[in-house]
Formats: sequence, structure tokens, C-alpha cells
Amino acid sequence: MSLEPPIQTQHQRRGSIQADGRRQKVRVADVAGRFTTWRRRAFVLLIAVYALAPLVKVGGQPLILIDLVRRRFYLFGQTFNAQDAWLLFFLVAGGVIGIFVITAIWGRLWCGWACPQTVFLEGVFRPIERWLEGSKQAQLRLAKEPLRGRKLRILATKHALYLGAAVLVSNIFISYFVSYADLRRWIFESPGEHWGAFVWMAAITGALYGNFAWFREQTCLLLCPYGRLQSALTDDDSLVIGYDERRGEPRGGVHQAGAGDCIDCLRCVEVCPTAIDIREGLQMECIGCANCIDACDDIMTRLGRPTGLVRYDSLAGLEGAARRRWLRPRVYLYLVVLALLAGGFSVAAAGRRPFEATLIRQTGAPYALENGYYQNLYQVHLVNKTPRRSQFELRAILPEGAEAVLPIASVELDSLDDQRLPLIVRVPQASYRGGFTVQVETRDLGSEAVVRSQLDFIGP
Ligand code: SF4
Ligand code: SF4
Repeated sequence: MSLEPPIQTQHQRRGSIQADGRRQKVRVADVAGRFTTWRRRAFVLLIAVYALAPLVKVGGQPLILIDLVRRRFYLFGQTFNAQDAWLLFFLVAGGVIGIFVITAIWGRLWCGWACPQTVFLEGVFRPIERWLEGSKQAQLRLAKEPLRGRKLRILATKHALYLGAAVLVSNIFISYFVSYADLRRWIFESPGEHWGAFVWMAAITGALYGNFAWFREQTCLLLCPYGRLQSALTDDDSLVIGYDERRGEPRGGVHQAGAGDCIDCLRCVEVCPTAIDIREGLQMECIGCANCIDACDDIMTRLGRPTGLVRYDSLAGLEGAARRRWLRPRVYLYLVVLALLAGGFSVAAAGRRPFEATLIRQTGAPYALENGYYQNLYQVHLVNKTPRRSQFELRAILPEGAEAVLPIASVELDSLDDQRLPLIVRVPQASYRGGFTVQVETRDLGSEAVVRSQLDFIGP
């Protein structure tokens, strides 16, 4: 590789969108280095976690399953039903604030190392392309060939593999929302028997295929709101990938007198998946992939100069500040909010009862007079929220003179199953002296937990 600066048109436009708004296809040159190696390891690990998490069981229940069909969800051995959905507020808000903290300290580390868009594009789809079409130069040559023979075979194979990968990723995604057993059955049975599920799978597959085969970096640039929030979430002390202008400028040839360390070789641009020039400063299009660090470190090593002309640093550090401030007012603020949410979630989760037993009035007339008795009809709505099958016993607690008819006083329920049990309360007309409180005590025989619920008795 020549280390002399390339001939360049004056102020060539960088990026994947041309001045007139048209898309410019980005072809990324190969790069090697410590960050590339560590990112590949991270991608393998994250894809393995993604694929295996729905299969892992904790205490007989899925590690993560948001079962939309049965309206129940499982998280790390805990079972939740639709009534617990409010707890998701803490998880979602905690996740958002957690990302704020990470962004304030480490900038776009998430985008470059862990975002599913990056993980699947750089860990699966781009390697397929690289394997079939070769290096950037080979890809450019192939693009100029007529669409027949070798090119047709390569493109057909590439898109078939893309489609296969998209089907796989979409099925794994669906397995977070339907039980693995259901999904397996749907896969092996005719689509005609599960039209709804099939259409969902086809839609997700189509979206993934379109995204990874064609839209690619445009998702980060045009669709993802996170990139646009960067300027609000980061400051001069956040970790970014930047170019050391004080060291690199003025750019010039290797042996040019008075030139800085940047030899204007454009390797950092060649390897950039969004085709920007890191030397133009921090840009919204930078997804923090660190390709330009590895590319420039390689050039510096070949020249026998210190690495780090492009590096992870804060904007303050790139401008010469001696120390980077990790903890700043905004980080403290985010951490306080995060601690409050974590505390709120702990209190809410600890106060969560292992089962629900709610006394509700049956629809219809509030009371009736039958055979000389005033009577009210109720139901006890019992929901087993424990992760195991449990047996429950019910008893009514009433004032003297009132009677309860509880046809099913003992019931066994599977985890997250529910049942409505009828209850009739009656009082002789002659001794009725006004309304009173009806209490039902439900006991879980496994944990000995007790839930009492109450409602008024209504008479004339
Ligand atoms: S910053 Fe490094 S990789 Fe980029 S043009 Fe300058 S020397 Fe080349
Ligand atoms: S500028 Fe560097 S870190 Fe940012 S996207 Fe391009 S190659 Fe990746």
C-alpha cells in the first residue's frame, strides 16, 4: 500500500448521502486491529446470547419470554401476568436512563459494540458479502460487470444467504414473544394453520432483509433517534472517537517538511461504514465503530510513529486537557434517577403478592330476595402468579347471621392460570339490619401466603 497522499478533488463530499440527496452506496475496506478483533468477539458473544436466551430455563420457566398469546411474561425465573405490566415502567425507564449514563460516560459505545443493527450487520451480513464478493476493490470491479454468469451466481448466493439469515434472526426474535414449543410447532406445521404468525414472521424477515441487504447505515443515519440525541446526551468529557488535530495538522506527505502526523492517506475514510471523515470532527454519522482507529494505528505503526492519532478520548482530551472528568453533574443526576427507579422497582417487586384473589360482584341486580333470604352473588378471581402449580383454599369471613355458599373452596392452579370461583352470601330477611362487609380469605397451601379481599353486602 502506498503511504503517499492520494490525488483528491477539492472538498470532496464525504458520507453516504450526496449533495443532491441521492444515496451513495458505501463499500467498506477491510480493516484489522485490536478493536476489530475485540468487536468480533463481542459480536459472537452477543449473537450467542441472543440465540440461546429463549432456550435457557430458570426454575423450570424461560429466562426471558414475553408471551403475548397468553398475556404473561417471564424474566429471570420470575413470572408476571398482565396485571403486573406496570412494573415494566421501571424496567423501560431504567433502561433508558441506563443508556443516558452509558452515553454520558462512554459516548456511542453501544452503537459500535452492542446495537443489534451493528452486531448483525458487521457480525453476519457484511462477512457474507465479504466472503462472496471479496475486498472493497473486488466489489467495485464486480459492480461494473454485466449481470450474468459469475456475477449473477454470486449475487443469487449472497441474497439467498441474506434471506436465510434474516429468517433465522426473525424466528429467534419471535421466540421471545411466543413459547419455544409453540414456535417449533408453527415452523413444522403448514403456514395455512397459523396465518397470523406466518405473516408476522414474513414481515419481520422482510424488514430485516431490506435493512441488512440494502438500507444498512441509513437506518442509523435516518431512522434511529439515538444518534440524533447524542449532542444532548454527551459533553466535552464524554468518551468519543476523535482525531488529534494538534498532532495531525497540517496534513502532508510522509517526508514533507513541517507536516503533521496525518499523511492524508484516507484509510480512516475507506474503512468507515458511514463513509465520513473523522478528521472533520465529531459527527452525528459516527457510530463509534473504531474502524478508523485500527486503520490509522496501522498506518502510524508502518511509519514508525506513535499510534493514537485517531483514538478513544474526550473532546477535552483531544484539545489537550490533562485529565478527563468521569463524574460530572449530569452523570450524578442520571445516577440518582437510576437509583430511584431501581429502588422503586425493588419495593414494587418485593410487595408483589404471589397470587391475586379479588372479590368481585357478579353482573346483574345487586341483590335478590329468595325464599326469605336477601342474597348477593360474587366471584373470587384467583390468579396463581407463582412459577409453580399451587393449591389454594378459600373461606368467607362474615358477621353473625350471614351465611356463605362457596361451592369450590379448594382449587389447584398451574403457574399464571386463573379461575373465577362463585360465592353466594345470604342473610335471612327477618334478621337483616343493613349492609356489612364480606371478606374472603385465600391461602396458598404451598407458601402459606394469605390474601384477604372484601366487598360490601348490599340489601334494600
Ligand atoms: S488520520 Fe490516519 S488514516 Fe486518516 S488520513 Fe490521516 S494518517 Fe491516514
Ligand atoms: S468515523 Fe470512525 S468510528 Fe465513526 S463510524 Fe466512521 S470509522 Fe467508525
